[in-house]
Amino acid sequence: MIIGGGVIGLTIARALAQRGVRDVCLIERSALGTEASFAAGGILAPQAEADRADEFFELACRSRDLYADFAAALREETAIDVELDTTGTLYVALREGDLKEIEKRFEWQSKQGLVVQKLTAREARELEPCVAPAVSDALLFPRDIQVENRRLLNALVNSVTNLGVKIVTETNVESIGSDRGQITGVQTSRGFVSCQTVLVAAGTWSSTIEHTPRNEHARTPKIEPVRGQMICFDAKPQLTRHVIYSPRGYLVPRKDGRLLAGSTSENAGFAKQVTAGGINTILANAHEISPGISNLPIIDTWAGLRPRAADGLPVLGPCDEIDGLVYATGHYRNGILLAPVTGELIAEAIVSGRISPLLAAFSPNRFKLAPVS
Ligand SMILES: Cc1cc2nc3c(=O)[nH]c(=O)nc-3n(C[C@H](O)[C@H](O)[C@H](O)COP(=O)(O)OP(=O)(O)OC[C@H]3O[C@@H](n4cnc5c(N)ncnc54)[C@H](O)[C@@H]3O)c2cc1C
Repeated sequence: MIIGGGVIGLTIARALAQRGVRDVCLIERSALGTEASFAAGGILAPQAEADRADEFFELACRSRDLYADFAAALREETAIDVELDTTGTLYVALREGDLKEIEKRFEWQSKQGLVVQKLTAREARELEPCVAPAVSDALLFPRDIQVENRRLLNALVNSVTNLGVKIVTETNVESIGSDRGQITGVQTSRGFVSCQTVLVAAGTWSSTIEHTPRNEHARTPKIEPVRGQMICFDAKPQLTRHVIYSPRGYLVPRKDGRLLAGSTSENAGFAKQVTAGGINTILANAHEISPGISNLPIIDTWAGLRPRAADGLPVLGPCDEIDGLVYATGHYRNGILLAPVTGELIAEAIVSGRISPLLAAFSPNRFKLAPVS
C-alpha cells in the first residue's frame, strides 16, 4: 500500500509493478500529482547546488544519471515525451560573494574529476546573450539538466495505469495500523484496508498520519513544509537555452516558450499561497540574472510545499520497529531529481529486503523514537 500520489509514490508504484508485485495499491487524498511535484521547476542539477561530495551528492548524481533511461522507458511505455533537456546549467556570479562560491565549487568539483567549466563574463554572454551586464564569471555544468515535471507526472500516471497498479484517489489515509510490530493496514476516509506493507510517500504531510494503536512504538520522522513560489512568463522567442542559476534564484526555459522563475524558501506552515512579497523577491532575483524578463508577460504564478526532514535529508527505507513500514519522503528541494533512484532502491528494498548502501545515510532509523503516549 502506497500513501501519496506525487512523483515519489508514483515512481515507486511503477518500480514495484515492474518487478512483478501484483497487488500494488496507491491511495491519494486528492488528485494524482497536484502538490509539490506539480509545483516544481524540474531542475536536475546536483552539481550546480553542491558544496561537497557526500552521500547526498552521490545519491543525487546517481539519480540524475538514471534520467536518460527513465525518460526513454516512459516514452516507450506511454508515448509521452517528458522533455528531458540536456542543454546544461549555467551558474552565474553577480556579486562579490558569488565569485568566491563559484571558485570553491569549481575547485572541489574539478579536483574530483567532475565535468564543470569555468567561463569568463564574455564567454558566458556568448553562450547566453540574455545574462545581465553584472555577470562577472560563470560555471557551466553540462551534465546538470532539466525535465518537464508535469509531463513526467502524466507519463508516470499512464505507466502505472498500464501496469495494473490499483489507484484510489479522493481518499485520505487517516492512520496506519499495526499489531505487535507488524503492519495490519490503513484506516482511510472510506474504511479500513488490510495490507502487510505500507509505504509512506505523502510528501510534506507524511508525519501528519497517525499510528494506531498509539502504544505501538512507531518511528515517525517529522516532516515540515517549506513553501516555494514560482512565476511563469511567456517567452517567445525563448530568452535562454540553459537553466540559469544565481545563488539567489533561477530561470528555467521550457520548450513551449514558458520561462519559469523561482523560487522562495519560506516557513509558512501548510499555507500554499502566492504572496506579494514572494513575487517581489522572485522578480528581483530573476531580473538580476537577466533584465530581459522585464518585457515578458507573466502568465501564471503558483506555490508548493517542499517536504523537509529535520536535517534536510531524504528519509528512505524501512523502519526498525514496525515490520512492513517503509518511508520515502523528505525529498525537500530535490524530489524530481531523486525520483528514479528512490523508485529503484525502495522497490528493491521492499521486494528483496536488500537495503542498498546508498540508502544508509537516509534511513528513518536515524531519528529518535516518538515517545509512547
Ligand atoms: C516551487 C518548488 C520548486 C521545486 N523545484 C524542484 C526542482 O527544480 N527539482 C527537484 O528535484 N525538486 C524540486 N522541488 C521539490 C519537489 O517538488 C519535491 O521534493 C517533490 O515533488 C516531492 O514529491 P512527493 O511525491 O514526496 O510529494 P508531493 O508531490 O507533495 O506528493 C505527496 C502526495 O501525497 C498526498 N497525501 C498527503 N497526505 C495524504 C494522506 N493522508 N492520504 C493520502 N494521500 C496523501 C498529497 O495529496 C500529495 O499528492 C520543488 C518544489 C517546489 C515547491
